[in-house]
Amino acid sequence: MTTRRIYYDDSFAREFTANVLSCDPVPYPERQAWELILDATALYPTSGGQPCDLGKIGEANVLDVRDDSDEIAHIVDRGVGLGSVRGCVDWTRRFDHMQQHTGQHLLSAIFQERFGLRTVSFHLGSVISTIDLRGPEPSDAILEGAERAANQVIFDDRPVNVRYGTAEELADLGVRKEVDRQGILRAIEIEGTDLQPCGGTHVRRTTQIGLMLVRRCTKIRQDWRVEFACGGRVERIARSDFQQLQRAAEQLKCALNDVAESAERAIAMRDAQFKESRALLPRLAEAEATLALQATAPGPDGRRLIARIFQEDAQAEYLGHFASQLAKAENTIALLAHVPCGHLFFAQHPSAGQEMNTLLKQVVDQLGGKGGGTRDFSRGRLNEPAKAELAIALGRELLSKKISDSI
Ligand SMILES: [Zn+2]
Repeated sequence: MTTRRIYYDDSFAREFTANVLSCDPVPYPERQAWELILDATALYPTSGGQPCDLGKIGEANVLDVRDDSDEIAHIVDRGVGLGSVRGCVDWTRRFDHMQQHTGQHLLSAIFQERFGLRTVSFHLGSVISTIDLRGPEPSDAILEGAERAANQVIFDDRPVNVRYGTAEELADLGVRKEVDRQGILRAIEIEGTDLQPCGGTHVRRTTQIGLMLVRRCTKIRQDWRVEFACGGRVERIARSDFQQLQRAAEQLKCALNDVAESAERAIAMRDAQFKESRALLPRLAEAEATLALQATAPGPDGRRLIARIFQEDAQAEYLGHFASQLAKAENTIALLAHVPCGHLFFAQHPSAGQEMNTLLKQVVDQLGGKGGGTRDFSRGRLNEPAKAELAIALGRELLSKKISDSI
């Protein structure tokens, strides 16, 4: 039995009466569901890049609508008895889809007619829709030109007509897409702009598209994916763009028109300050090392051991500089750990006569982590940064054992 598609002739039908032909339980993810077949429906099934309608049939909520060639299957959340039933379409959702879908016909026609870029696919998303164009990369000027031309056709308030005819008849009328299907075909005409075969739902006049907004273009395999939005979505996008801009302007303490320049200046300043503070690290490390060496007396064996644990207020990079500076002093050994990320730096002046790489390896092997380096300078990282203090204590212990063994 064929389901009559009410939306073919009246895409503005929001309510309808039909006969329930069957209603049977059907497997559906995570809930009970029934497959319901009617003799006629105003609900559009998922097809041609457009998501299905939602709505109600009797007391049942529609979860999905599927196109099974002749029949349309409604997936609903409860059983519905056979016989006559009232149905309704979730109109907000449907009208939004009609705006995007008719807008797509218009945009595709303009890209093809004016810029020679053929549409090879269409996707109607929940926020942004896309068409994939085949041909050379569309420049910003082309994207903007297509948007402006589409809006001109929208402002012209042209009728959007449904036409029927054989493939031959439609070809004579200048149909955009060639079709090899037999019998009577349905085509959508935007007067004076476009004619193409389509089984979808569309608005009646171009003004109902509202407004066309073309956004990003990205390369997808061999094609160009153009993002666009129409109608009520353009209003929501413009509102959200404005709010974002306003937030950025408040943060940057500048006028809306100056956001880009202000951001560039702020980033340039941040980069310069980062470079400056980085350049200061070795000098700061040198000064701190001098103080540390002055404050630490050599042990009975004449060696000076400086062990230190750094917290969040230092960067791991600073520890490297500090270790290098300490290791410039004769008979000095530095054992440093960074608590936030578990970095370890073991360094010595060659005259201290130990093996920093062996020592570091023993510590990370015992506590978990990895690292390596030379006899005089080694670095590593603990798997668990919380063991930083333990690592330094262990390093000290192993070192004093070695030194006492060697005496
Ligand atoms: Zn269409």
